[in-house]
Amino acid sequence: MGKTVKITVLVDNEAPENLAKEHGFSAWIETDEYRILFDTGQLGALLTNAEKLGVDLSTADKLVFSHGHYDHTGQLPAFLEKNSKAHIYCCPQLRIGRYSCKIGTAPRFIGMPEASIKALASISAGRIHETSCPRYLTTKVGMTGPVPRDVPLEDTGGPFFLDDHRGVDDLIEDDQSMWFETDNGLLILLGCCHAGLVNTVEYIRRISGIQKIHGIIGGMHLVNADEKRLNYTFEHLKAWNPDFLSPCHCTGQSATACMLEAIGSDIVKPGHAGLVIEA
Ligand SMILES: [Zn+2]
Ligand SMILES: [Zn+2]
Repeated sequence: MGKTVKITVLVDNEAPENLAKEHGFSAWIETDEYRILFDTGQLGALLTNAEKLGVDLSTADKLVFSHGHYDHTGQLPAFLEKNSKAHIYCCPQLRIGRYSCKIGTAPRFIGMPEASIKALASISAGRIHETSCPRYLTTKVGMTGPVPRDVPLEDTGGPFFLDDHRGVDDLIEDDQSMWFETDNGLLILLGCCHAGLVNTVEYIRRISGIQKIHGIIGGMHLVNADEKRLNYTFEHLKAWNPDFLSPCHCTGQSATACMLEAIGSDIVKPGHAGLVIEA
């Protein structure tokens, strides 16, 4: 059977010398039916790397947002300048105001930038699809919508609040991931995975009815995870027995090193801009 999906990482915190890197994430997806942009990154890496990697953003049929953080939504205006046809898929809470409030440092606005909110408001409502539940784009391409948070150990992974004074927790309910049903099992694409890796993967297995995990790529947001959560996550990763794991973006260098040690370099292939996966 032939390959049915090709994923190219466009933006990541890591990149080889010939590509731009930044704190952010974006991936380009090609299937039999569609070209899909998943997130836009934060700054200029999207346009630079798309050009260098031969990706024509004007041909995207769809843009899927994993969640509303600035490092995933920042280049929406640049994308819309190149593309006037793509339909946009996101969870309803994409545009809400949100902050990172680390104790001892000034609160930081980390929501969708003003320019991106404006750009989104400028396109016809018929092109924007808010997803409050799982949904298929084709018979083999799905997106989760909001992910139930069943695992007590898996919090959102940071000091995230809906205000700038640590008043109301931001549960980042808009966090969603995508999956692709391939001949080798599920290929799962994560943005930041604030819903938690175990919550997300188990939910996708449940929705799709497919148990075999072919591979997982994207931000796993383990950057602030303690040892207990890391071990819990690694036990699940091992039990799923994937063919590969490509932690990217916000997984965190030390969590990635621990994952390499726990699961091995045969399976764990840390991601970077320019990485191509076909399945
Ligand atoms: Zn995030
Ligand atoms: Zn992120």
